[in-house]
Amino acid sequence: MTESFDAIVIGTGQAGPALAVRLAKAGRRVAIVERKRFGGTCVNNGCIPTKTLIASARAAHVARVAERYGLRIDGDVRVDMARVKARKDAIVAESTANVEAWLRGTANVTVVLGHARFVEPHAVAVDGRVLAAPQIFINTGGRPAAPRIEGLDRVAYLTSTGILELDRLPEHLIVVGGSYIGLEFAQMYRRFGSQVTVVEMAPRLVAREDDDVSAALRQILEGEGIAIRVSAECLAVEPRGDAVAVHARCSEGPGAIVGSHLLIAAGRVPNTHDLGLEVAGVETDAKGYIVVDDSLATRVPGLYALGDVNGRGAFPHTAFNDFEIVAANALDGDPRRVSDRIPVYALFTDPPLARAGMTKREARLSGRPTLVGRRTMARVGRARERGETLGFMEVLVDAETKRIVGAALLGIEADEAIHGIIDIMNAGAPYTAIQRAVHIHPTVSELIPTLLGELAPLGPARDGAGAAAA
Ligand SMILES: Cc1cc2nc3c(=O)[nH]c(=O)nc-3n(C[C@H](O)[C@H](O)[C@H](O)COP(=O)(O)OP(=O)(O)OC[C@H]3O[C@@H](n4cnc5c(N)ncnc54)[C@H](O)[C@@H]3O)c2cc1C
Repeated sequence: MTESFDAIVIGTGQAGPALAVRLAKAGRRVAIVERKRFGGTCVNNGCIPTKTLIASARAAHVARVAERYGLRIDGDVRVDMARVKARKDAIVAESTANVEAWLRGTANVTVVLGHARFVEPHAVAVDGRVLAAPQIFINTGGRPAAPRIEGLDRVAYLTSTGILELDRLPEHLIVVGGSYIGLEFAQMYRRFGSQVTVVEMAPRLVAREDDDVSAALRQILEGEGIAIRVSAECLAVEPRGDAVAVHARCSEGPGAIVGSHLLIAAGRVPNTHDLGLEVAGVETDAKGYIVVDDSLATRVPGLYALGDVNGRGAFPHTAFNDFEIVAANALDGDPRRVSDRIPVYALFTDPPLARAGMTKREARLSGRPTLVGRRTMARVGRARERGETLGFMEVLVDAETKRIVGAALLGIEADEAIHGIIDIMNAGAPYTAIQRAVHIHPTVSELIPTLLGELAPLGPARDGAGAAAA
């Protein structure tokens, strides 16, 4: 027998629960379906566990460099991975339980456990039950990609999910993928005490960022003893006894890298292959992302896609903003749009990279006259006091509109300091609104007005240098 609802939400990631509760509070009868763990990727195998582990890794790092601050620790700093993991597991368990309790405790919300698959455009089957609703919201997220690497089917390897279950330290971790997820794990495990090698196919790390950001990140990571191999065009892996060998180069160059563990961090793919979307008539693009319009509607009336699965963002904050957009359109008569969103994100290395809007490369491609303000962290008092002066802050301004169009802050507290810039960008105010503001001393943020007072024209790209201001 078909069970009817006003709305069905598939997935309890960063958009689904908030949307289910909002709709329920508006009087709609809502079913929300989850096949694994409440809270999805961010809560269970993404942001929360990794940032918890990074906190342990940072504590180990600070203890190791304590002497620089005039402290003496007698004996070695050793990491007990079982306890590190237990701490992570406890924080994750609390978060996932909170999401479940929130949903189960909300009137009008029915929680259904199992895998949802479309059987009609407005009905899904879940474990022998059929649920139907005029509106269905797909928030099924993504999973680690399994790239085509020669020999990968013959070796044991970890993904960003599997590595979270390690309770013993790898002797030598090889990370294939020098982008956001790979670099966080690389630094984390180096700080835990593993030997770490990062192997990246592109000529530089985090190739989406400007060259100078990639170069500075490389310097930071190499400074901690992480080996980095870029331009690994001919990647192949093979078993070597209990170890794994990674071949990175087509011809000459150093031989195979042999490690005890292999992490494949080579991107993510959307969970759309097993949803029965073809039955519903929902279109996906070449990479499997659900095609949506600016209000996140698919071409099938009543069907929407939110979060990573729609390819319009790859972060919890974009997924949550998708919820806000859908709720505003459905319940508030407010025509909010995805295209109003300014791209923002962070890479949580230490120091972190925080980004908003355009890179310099994108600013140059836009053809707009652009100004750039830049300051190295070595010239930020707070960073010097903390003894952590690596990185730089850079802000891009449209020379005609005076609006901030991009920012890359790589340095301590960058992930917090960027929010003043993000808010001004969203307000549509000119950069002078920050430049004339009085900020608190001594902070990282206090130097942002200063660098905005030193704007210079953005020059053409210089090969390999990412060309900044004159
Ligand atoms: C290692 C790692 C670290 C990360 N760290 C950060 C970070 O620090 N900051 C940041 O901004 N982003 C980070 N991210 C990205 C972030 O986790 C994701 O962007 C975010 O979780 C996406 O949320 P979502 O709502 O789209 O989907 P998800 O959180 O993936 O949720 C989807 C849910 O749907 C369920 N589901 C799927 N298919 C079905 C089905 N057919 N039936 C029923 N249920 C289904 C899944 O089980 C899952 O619970 C990280 C990602 C990873 C992998």
